[in-house]
Amino acid sequence: MQSTEKETDPTDRLETLLIHAGAEVDPATGAVTPPIHLATTYQHGPGGEDLHGFEYIREGHPTQTRLETALAAADGGEAALFFSSGLAAVASMLQALPEGSHLVFPKDVYHGVRKMVQRFGSRWGLTATAADVSDLAAVRAALRPETRLVWAETPSNPQLRITEIAALAELVHGHGAELLVDGTFATPILQRPLDLGADVVMHSATKYMGGHSDVLGGALIFRKAAPWHPEILESRHLLGPAASPFNAWLVLRGLRSMACRVERHAANALALAEALHGHPKVETVYYPGLPGHPGHEIARKQMKAFGGMVSVLVRGGREEAVEVASRLRLFTNATSLGGVESLVEHRASIEGPGTPTPQNLLRLSVGLEHADDLIADWKQALGE
Ligand SMILES: *Cc1c(COP(=O)(O)O)cnc(C)c1O
Repeated sequence: MQSTEKETDPTDRLETLLIHAGAEVDPATGAVTPPIHLATTYQHGPGGEDLHGFEYIREGHPTQTRLETALAAADGGEAALFFSSGLAAVASMLQALPEGSHLVFPKDVYHGVRKMVQRFGSRWGLTATAADVSDLAAVRAALRPETRLVWAETPSNPQLRITEIAALAELVHGHGAELLVDGTFATPILQRPLDLGADVVMHSATKYMGGHSDVLGGALIFRKAAPWHPEILESRHLLGPAASPFNAWLVLRGLRSMACRVERHAANALALAEALHGHPKVETVYYPGLPGHPGHEIARKQMKAFGGMVSVLVRGGREEAVEVASRLRLFTNATSLGGVESLVEHRASIEGPGTPTPQNLLRLSVGLEHADDLIADWKQALGE
């Protein structure tokens, strides 16, 4: 972890913290695992007096409060908000920017973020510039006096680019703007952007946090509660991107085992990336854990391990890449990532026309199967 002088406090170690955060024994029953409160409404006094701390489900519910406590602790922020999806969290953040704000966002970014900015940014009174956010000079050139937020995603989707969070935070703050990091690929287990100077972290909880490909959710974690937490809490009440209790409960359960899972995802991904690197049918492997990766040294500094996502450029073009994807047996052809099972995706087909993703790129979400089985599957798919 990134912890420094407080290293001996067991609650600073994420393996321990994630088991205990928001995990108080239920006072009503003694239940060790948290109950799921499905109630949409909570008793108040005859004059609307707050009796129990909850009023209406859209504004908050006990299962979500437990989850937000755990999310804030995991990323080391003062406050966290949970949403119905990762993109709901993204939209809530962008909608909170004052009208007339300018946004700098990465060229290689989750395609839903790019499409949201392009389709809705101007309706929300925003202007935006796409830049290679991993290149400080490119960010400096994109900054304007009215730039309010710089959006970074590291490692990035799907090209696994690495952005140096501490250096970027310094540049952005020097300009009077704030830095948000989409930490979905890394999770707080491997990288804690707030410790490195970022102001906000966003996660698609649908991925490694849920961890089993069965729940949709998103989160924002704030280094300082003010001004974003009260502002976006209010917009969540009024615009309604609130999550269901069951989804909050599943993500909270996922967090309990996340440290173990993410370590194994990363170990399997490294083993597979090393096995595919230099293979005659493979043009390039994008994985920050490989010493030849342009972001390797930075990733070593700011990440505990390199994550479970690997992109492979198959020698040839679209046809050769799709052919390999069709021959894999343990990797299911499907979108999304971060579940226990391995997935493969020809990303350009999913992102559609105009995508900057190379046509011969296959994105892998490396699962928790035995690494030797995953490597053997790739070797047979490559025709060995
Ligand atoms: C999936 C994903 C999102 C969007 O999250 P949803 O939960 O699908 O809405 C955002 N960023 C990254 C990096 C993602 O992988």
